[in-house]
Amino acid sequence: MDALQDHAMAKASQQRRHMSLQRIEAALQGIAKEEFGWCLRCGEEIARRRLDSDPTSPLCIDCANLVEQ
Ligand SMILES: [Zn+2]
Repeated sequence: MDALQDHAMAKASQQRRHMSLQRIEAALQGIAKEEFGWCLRCGEEIARRRLDSDPTSPLCIDCANLVEQ
């Protein structure tokens, strides 16, 4: 039983790692295309302060708030 639980937890954390890798990859692709720093939803410039705290963020603070609600 414990082994099964360990396996499920290991799988879940592996999936989380995979997802954040995909986000970083998407951000890096944005840099390559010189689209880095622009909101994918509204096209506004993403605040520098926001990029400093989360460089992989694809949305400006306004859109991120809308999406998270
Ligand atoms: Zn936006």
